[in-house]
Amino acid sequence: MDPDCLFCKINAGEIPSTKVYEDDDVLAFKDIDPQAPIHFVIIPKKHYDSVLSVPAGDPIISHIMTVANRLALKYDIADAGFRLVNNCGAAGGQTVPHLHFHLLGGRDMQWPPG
Ligand code: AMP
Ligand code: ZN
Repeated sequence: MDPDCLFCKINAGEIPSTKVYEDDDVLAFKDIDPQAPIHFVIIPKKHYDSVLSVPAGDPIISHIMTVANRLALKYDIADAGFRLVNNCGAAGGQTVPHLHFHLLGGRDMQWPPG
């Protein structure tokens, strides 16, 4: 745990969140500033600054993909389509330096993203 990290604090229960999924390694919660009718943040419980910090072969990425898949089915956005986003680094739009994926659905998405 990084004591200065917002998402580590959410994982530790020090900052409240609305959890939508949890297992030993992964947590998902509602984004506080939703950009779509469904907008969840999916994080590994272990702190990685970004996707660049994940060692090759680490199973956490495929684990997160599986959780996203399950949540899309559970929240009924799978058939219509959804977006799974990772922002990496400042120019990539990453504002919280703890690896996370956004699961967005419930509306039509635009391309290219801004
Ligand atoms: P990013 O800009 O990709 O780093 O995404 C960070 C996301 O975390 C943003 O969509 C924020 O709205 C979201 N966020 C920030 N603080 C909280 C919080 N306390 N609870 C839930 N989501 C948060
Ligand atoms: Zn963290």
